[in-house]
Amino acid sequence: MQESDLERIIQILRSHQLKVTPARLEVLRIILNSKEALSFPMLEKMLPHLDRTTIFRTLSTFLKKSLLHTVPDTEGKLKYAYSNRINTCQEHIHFTCLNCHNTCCLPNSHIPFIQLPDGFQYSYANLLVHGFCDTCSQERAATSASYE
Ligand SMILES: [Zn+2]
Ligand SMILES: [Zn+2]
Repeated sequence: MQESDLERIIQILRSHQLKVTPARLEVLRIILNSKEALSFPMLEKMLPHLDRTTIFRTLSTFLKKSLLHTVPDTEGKLKYAYSNRINTCQEHIHFTCLNCHNTCCLPNSHIPFIQLPDGFQYSYANLLVHGFCDTCSQERAATSASYE
């Protein structure tokens, strides 16, 4: 772990009134440095030396402190992504790739206002856009070109 990286993570934990523990440092570092949202099994694989309960507890603590938000997956499983000030201010849309199944935040795309029928109460919205990510689109373009 780089020194500046470590300092930044410690600062984030402290600013959320969280005690700094080795597990919290590691889980947060992985989530911060990941471009895509991560599922519990993915985190387990990346942190083989931590036990499931520790990872699970760390995630629930982070969720409670709004350090993370959950992202829906195509199979209805949850993934976790870091919440910075930009993407927590407003609910945003997520993107999932049909080929590599990576899911990422689109913090600049906000969930539009949704008109509910009378008497309905809004809680939250999950909006998942499906398509092909930059890497997979390039691969698809390359494969289709080679058929010509
Ligand atoms: Zn992809
Ligand atoms: Zn997000």
